[in-house]
Amino acid sequence: MAQTIRTFIAVDLPDSVRHAIRHYQEPLKDEGADIRWVRTESIHLTLKFLGEVPVDQKDEILKAAVQAVKSVQPFTVTLSGTGGFPDLKNPRVLWVGILRGAQELTDLSIRLNNALIPLGFEMDKRPFKAHLTLGRVRSMRGVSSVIERMADPFESEPFKVNEINLFKSDLNPTGAVYTVLGCAKMEG
Ligand code: ATP
Ligand code: MG
Repeated sequence: MAQTIRTFIAVDLPDSVRHAIRHYQEPLKDEGADIRWVRTESIHLTLKFLGEVPVDQKDEILKAAVQAVKSVQPFTVTLSGTGGFPDLKNPRVLWVGILRGAQELTDLSIRLNNALIPLGFEMDKRPFKAHLTLGRVRSMRGVSSVIERMADPFESEPFKVNEINLFKSDLNPTGAVYTVLGCAKMEG
């Protein structure tokens, strides 16, 4: 069988925003709940999850992404608010939300979906909801105190999105490790 890699397309964050998320995340982690926290340096905004793809297809995927976004105008994103999927009562995923730029991110995800159809990738079935995963709940042990702390407001400074990245994901026992394989720039 051909060698495969696990891949996804996402927006990376500026260091200052990453720092602000770390600052918010630390006290949540300190609650010691049964949550697998995403390493702060790994937090990103997923636009399209591709899953296992043949290594050989990497260049073709990147080319499709470049085509899909090159005529898109760079835009501003502000992160704000936190919550849980499916909800904060019984969360499986804890996330940071988007205040500004949500529509542009949705448009990007649609463009990517469309550009990747000819390569054999299916359109996402669930409607896209832009978010950054902070952690994944393994069991409800200790989670209620984390949820209480998530009443603390979070808002990032605004930042410009002018490129997206193709990432490789290696699922290690200590958590997924992501590597940037390539970049697609928006030129408007
Ligand atoms: P782990 O699976 O070990 O918890 P992870 O979810 O961070 O780690 P991946 O599963 O490789 O790593 O996922 C990479 C990115 O794609 C993450 O942002 C994840 O939320 C997203 N993702 C994963 N699976 C899907 C899916 N089926 N649909 C949409 N997005 C997904
Ligand atoms: Mg996963």
